[in-house]
Amino acid sequence: MTHHETMNQSDEILARSTEFVPTALDRFREENCGSVVDWRIAMKRAIRSSDELRSILGLSGDGLTSEESELSGIAGGSEKAFDCSVTAEKAFPTFVPLEYLSRIRPGDPSDPLLRQVLPDPREDVEAQGFVPDPVGDLRVMPAPAILHKYQGRALVVTTGACGVHCRYCFRREFPYSEASAGGQSLEPTLAYLGQHREVEEVLLSGGDPLTLVDRNLDTMVQAISQFEHVKRLRVHTRMPIVIPQRVTAELIEIFTRSPLAVWFVVHVNHPSELDAHVLERLAMLIDAGIPVLNQAVLLKGVNDNVETLQQLCGLLVSHRIQPYYLHQLDRVRGAAHFEVPVEKGLEIMRELRKRLPGYAMPEYVIEESGEASKTPIVSTAKS
Ligand code: SF4
Repeated sequence: MTHHETMNQSDEILARSTEFVPTALDRFREENCGSVVDWRIAMKRAIRSSDELRSILGLSGDGLTSEESELSGIAGGSEKAFDCSVTAEKAFPTFVPLEYLSRIRPGDPSDPLLRQVLPDPREDVEAQGFVPDPVGDLRVMPAPAILHKYQGRALVVTTGACGVHCRYCFRREFPYSEASAGGQSLEPTLAYLGQHREVEEVLLSGGDPLTLVDRNLDTMVQAISQFEHVKRLRVHTRMPIVIPQRVTAELIEIFTRSPLAVWFVVHVNHPSELDAHVLERLAMLIDAGIPVLNQAVLLKGVNDNVETLQQLCGLLVSHRIQPYYLHQLDRVRGAAHFEVPVEKGLEIMRELRKRLPGYAMPEYVIEESGEASKTPIVSTAKS
């Protein structure tokens, strides 16, 4: 079973007038305005079909601009585009929580948040160099649910479930049901960590570790905290961004009770992902003494321009969140249409450096299979 099987457009922005309010979205806002449901209910209510997503947002077509259709050889709105979208969705199902959906502009097929979550016919186009396991995860699994790639750090694949399905995810084909800690006994995973005294830092990743219920997460954190040689726990999660109510006082207590130094790394690619509710819940973590870092992926049509990244990094540091990495896209099968050329990435970084204070600058990196660390992408050229 692959990644998330475990859980069950035009180049013009559609003309929007004051009268154009899709009924379904209207209804959704009415029903949800001001009410915050438990995060588990939010997971259950997430949209799991691209047709429903389009209908709620008042979209017709498949989201391809005419330029994109031409480049991919798939005519936008054609039968072939439809078939390719269906295949893409079967391979990696749609999963979009309503809390995230409410931040997408209705009627806009180019919305940067929509592009991250709507299955795209181009996912079905073969592209050279785009493979199922681009970072070589499966070659560095010495024990069940453990990825041990870098010195002193080991990553625990806690679960295959996520709070959203990002179409460019480098683990979209990861065999979670065989290789995650959530579905089986924790013992072999813990035994490995106990035997490897060089491991000073444990990363909880997935999937998304915060899709585990508090009780299971608590058991895992407590068990890892018992190892004297482990000093730090890093939690990689997108849940506070997509379903912010996952961050509760009880959740925070699980981490503050641990003697380990706990760091959170969230994943935000565009400033529109940070609404007031998300910022409020991230502040709860920071106020509790948990540092929060952000990693973003450089994505074509989402954040591949200086203004967007300047706004994103500015917003992050204004809310005490440190921009950590800007990742060059991992070349996973189905995500080629998101790739931004490295030269363009470097140009954006050069310009960003002029506009932001040093501490607000993320490091532009690429993950290369078999390397001992992430590789910084730097240019010696003068701007
Ligand atoms: S939340 Fe992270 S792991 Fe889950 S689909 Fe998105 S990028 Fe992949």
